[in-house]
Amino acid sequence: MEATSLLEIANTFGAPVYVYDADKITSQYHKLTRAFDQVEHLRLNYAAKALSNLSILRLMNSLGSGLDTVSIQEVKLGLLAGFSPESIIYTPNGVSLEEIEEAAALGVQINIDNLSILEQFGNKHPDIPVCIRINPHVMAGGNSNISVGHIDSKFGISIHQIPHLLRIVELTDMRVNGIHMHTGSDILDIDVFLYASEILFETAKHFKHLEFIDFGSGFKVPYKKGDIQTNVEELGKKLSKRFNAFCKEYGKSLTLTFEPGKFLVSEAGYFLTKVNVVKQTTSTVFAQVDSGFNHLIRPMLYGAKHEIINISNPTGRERYYSIVGYICETDTFGSNRRIREITEGDILTFRNAGAYCFTMASNYNSRYRPAEVLWYKGKAHLIRERETFDDILKNQVDTSALFEAVPESVTGK
Ligand SMILES: *Cc1c(COP(=O)(O)O)cnc(C)c1O
Repeated sequence: MEATSLLEIANTFGAPVYVYDADKITSQYHKLTRAFDQVEHLRLNYAAKALSNLSILRLMNSLGSGLDTVSIQEVKLGLLAGFSPESIIYTPNGVSLEEIEEAAALGVQINIDNLSILEQFGNKHPDIPVCIRINPHVMAGGNSNISVGHIDSKFGISIHQIPHLLRIVELTDMRVNGIHMHTGSDILDIDVFLYASEILFETAKHFKHLEFIDFGSGFKVPYKKGDIQTNVEELGKKLSKRFNAFCKEYGKSLTLTFEPGKFLVSEAGYFLTKVNVVKQTTSTVFAQVDSGFNHLIRPMLYGAKHEIINISNPTGRERYYSIVGYICETDTFGSNRRIREITEGDILTFRNAGAYCFTMASNYNSRYRPAEVLWYKGKAHLIRERETFDDILKNQVDTSALFEAVPESVTGK
């Protein structure tokens, strides 16, 4: 997006504000579908948890995407946004049988990731088809926080437990219509991914009624210059070929499924903040913005590097700044960044603010969560209002009657 459009949005809607570029989301969607055009049946289920605003979900639905959900609330959001139940897959981890039954009753595809619930669900509802989440124990990323396929991860049913899994399926006579893996949030290496896929194919052979194989996600997008990004064209070529060969062997044209979150929305997002204070200390120049990790936690939580640009001074001299927030906690967005000279009141934009940014925002320090704006066909549309003081009070119970006024003998008045 043009800096001038972003500045205008900050002027109109105020800061801090999240902005999402619908064109970028659309082009990423098409890029991924194009990469797999050799596959007869392809399905992309957008991972709602990355960015779950209803307007974004509606946009995804209009593109033909399905929806990947991890909670009953996300399922309900998806239905509200217009997704048909059949186009929603529910992939929870560690939720109760009751919640899974509630999702099943809404007609969405169930994906189960542990043997205990699988057995209980199969005994009670042998006629409801389920997908099974496998853990292939493959480390697809470098950071153990985001590579969930390895041996001590809580996700999925271990491939070492396949015999047990098969016994449950046989005894309950349940129908397994899909097999799934999600190895983590970074496909660094296509060969690692293909290796994990082989494990999935091997597992898939055990099931006679498959309709789809779900390869999860983990597509990497660049956050800063020089970052590696997943070569989806190469992955598309190699995996499609292998998938088609598997289908032939299996005797049925299955659907190849992915559930990208970050790939579709990360680069489409901009977070606009206003500089409150420029603070020079003996060693550092801080620019303090009207935000903190209450609005954008990824730098503090994952060490994520979001590029920061001063859009108010596009031709200014570059200087070194540490960009920090205004909450009472260390909330560093970036240390020693080269940024065009910053003056108080300038608007700084954070790139890659589409995925796992707003959805992880909180009210810490009793601050309001920001507004969200969708940039669609050259126009800015407010898609979530900034919170107000009423939102901070909402759900709080008025207990003022419980507490008597403090006696004057205590206050000394
Ligand atoms: C979070 C999640 C995704 C999306 O991961 P990205 O890295 O954002 O693409 C896909 N599948 C499951 C099961 C998830 O939990």
